[in-house]
Amino acid sequence: MDARRCISYLTIEQGGPIPLELRPLMGNRIYGCDDCQLICPWNKFARRAVLPDFDVRPALANPDLLQLWSWDEATFLRLTEGSPIRRIGFSSWQRNIAVAMGNALRAERDAATRQALRGALSNWLSQPPAGVDVPLVGEHVQWALAQAGAS
Ligand code: SF4
Repeated sequence: MDARRCISYLTIEQGGPIPLELRPLMGNRIYGCDDCQLICPWNKFARRAVLPDFDVRPALANPDLLQLWSWDEATFLRLTEGSPIRRIGFSSWQRNIAVAMGNALRAERDAATRQALRGALSNWLSQPPAGVDVPLVGEHVQWALAQAGAS
């Protein structure tokens, strides 16, 4: 196994750009993957954690990509406080969501949803949020917009 192709590695550990050839394979995973944890037979013995730290957070339960994309850095820091998600920082967070939005644009058939995705990405380019690595995330936003015409 090549760990550099693991979605958890790409979305959490790797800084900088995500390799172009791997982006379409990431689907809508914006932080980790852990499908291997679902498949692992030993995990059938796992028990639900009782510590509140492991509870689902309302802001991250069944999240909508557009909603997550609308967070500014202060919102990201506030809503991920005490969570390992916070460790990747706002720029990697936005980088990952941009890839997921591009993949959604390629697969989405609903015109209104496509328009909403395109609009949110274009707005980012005209007014990037404060605190973000504009060259890094901007390149992923451009890639995401280009997926609108790919299929
Ligand atoms: S299934 Fe496991 S190894 Fe494969 S991409 Fe997901 S987290 Fe990585």
